[in-house]
Amino acid sequence: MKGYAMLSIGETGWIEKERPACGPDDAIIRPLAISPCTSDVHTVWAGALGERHNMILGHEGCGVVDEVGSNVKDFKVGDRIMVAAITPDWQSIAAQEGYPMHSGGMLAGWKFSNFKDGVFGEYFHVNDADGNLAHLPDSISPEEACMLSDMVPTGFHGVELADVKFGDTVLVIGIGPVGLMAVAGTSLRGASRIIAVGTRPNCIEAAKAYGASDFVNYKDGDIAEQVMELTNGKGVDKVIVAGGNNDTFETAVKVVKPGGTIGNVNYLGEGTYIQIPRVEWGVGMGHKKIVGGLMPGGRARLEKLGSLVTSGRLDVSIMLTHKFHGFEHIEEALMLMKDKPRDLIKPVVVL
Ligand code: NDP
Ligand code: ZN
Repeated sequence: MKGYAMLSIGETGWIEKERPACGPDDAIIRPLAISPCTSDVHTVWAGALGERHNMILGHEGCGVVDEVGSNVKDFKVGDRIMVAAITPDWQSIAAQEGYPMHSGGMLAGWKFSNFKDGVFGEYFHVNDADGNLAHLPDSISPEEACMLSDMVPTGFHGVELADVKFGDTVLVIGIGPVGLMAVAGTSLRGASRIIAVGTRPNCIEAAKAYGASDFVNYKDGDIAEQVMELTNGKGVDKVIVAGGNNDTFETAVKVVKPGGTIGNVNYLGEGTYIQIPRVEWGVGMGHKKIVGGLMPGGRARLEKLGSLVTSGRLDVSIMLTHKFHGFEHIEEALMLMKDKPRDLIKPVVVL
């Protein structure tokens, strides 16, 4: 079969590979739509996972079941399915302890385009099919389903990590697709005020549609100063970090109130340490919590998040700015994600 792969750090291209083999608990999927992610860009051009040779990229997609193993109960050949970017081993101790994303080691629930070939192939392999697939409802289009692989569950995980509650004032740093879903999830959780940080006009419009009430341009000066001014020196109840760099933590600690929580889903790609400002962290006694996490994955979560789309409570189509038709456009879509033109939110390829 054909696939679009990371050939080595900094190099991508089309390759030929064997169709993946199906174990007794697994499924083989033929993709219906796929989407490249900022994480694919980090994997290839920042070498975020270390060196990989001829590994098919991609972890956002949906498809049709082409083969199932003998133990798989709830899915059969021909079923249209969704699948999350994170596909844990649901029988692992880590999953039983509530951290399926770390089954097999820290972050090891992330298997696509990390420990095995990803979804940018003519077929892809899903482990633990009954735990990791969900039926794709007719009312969700394949391109919308791609957003349920990673952008929705990751952005919403930021909301869970920050523990957003009714009436909270929340700062969302970064309003690319992940941050936009953090804004949408924050709205659904009942925040009273959502301050969003970003500059791309498309993203600002989308953030407004998802419920952001105030905007901060990080290019106009210090984010913390701007947020303190907007809140009359009070700061915010919660911060969700979905963009920015290592300095973002200093900002988050400065603006969150005592008792507040910072939820990070951003990839930190540089340096050995991140800094926490001592005084603003209450000289160690400020009750300012910092939590970072990879999203959990799994069928139950996919079904629940999907039901937000089918009920009309969440419109993911706002994010789909660039649509392509045909497998051969995967390269173009990935390059868009790498170059991030200012009108881009998310590209998707329908196959
Ligand atoms: P984008 O690049 O589309 O968005 C990044 C956002 O951060 C933009 O709004 C950008 O603003 C803003 N930004 C850039 N620099 C700064 C800065 N210095 N200070 C404040 N804001 C800044 O990324 P994605 O939404 O696709 O992904 C966001 C992050 O989430 C990535 O690091 C990605 O790897 C990670 N991720 C994590 C996952 C997980 O499971 N934890 C899964 C998927 C992704 P502007 O409008 O100017 O572009
Ligand atoms: Zn992704």
